[in-house]
Amino acid sequence: MPITYRLAKDFNVAANIIRAQVAPNQIGTLVVELSGDIDELEAAIEWMRSQEITVLLASREISIDEDSCVHCGLCTGICPTEALTLDKDTFKLTFTRSRCIVCEQCIPTCPVNAISINL
Ligand code: SF4
Ligand code: SF4
Repeated sequence: MPITYRLAKDFNVAANIIRAQVAPNQIGTLVVELSGDIDELEAAIEWMRSQEITVLLASREISIDEDSCVHCGLCTGICPTEALTLDKDTFKLTFTRSRCIVCEQCIPTCPVNAISINL
């Protein structure tokens, strides 16, 4: 089903795909940023759930274990929103929580498992 097309056409909701893991004839996962009128957004989410699509809102949070982090910067290269950056003066990792969209892409990139998600 062309979900993002239906969201745009039927609900006037724009879906910005942050991450997609979709394989033919298998369950897929999309991380999307939805924007539109609040009533249309709620109707769009209701419609997706009526189509047996599991919708999880991003109320989860990323957590960085500062004791484990070695400030290698690997996670900053994968972060699509620049929530993770290296301070140009100290070369230490900076996490700007307000920019994080909880796409989880940084988690597997960390070589010391310093990044986790709070459910
Ligand atoms: S989950 Fe990680 S990669 Fe995704 S936006 Fe947040 S900090 Fe960046
Ligand atoms: S990848 Fe891990 S160790 Fe490297 S800067 Fe990011 S959180 Fe720190």
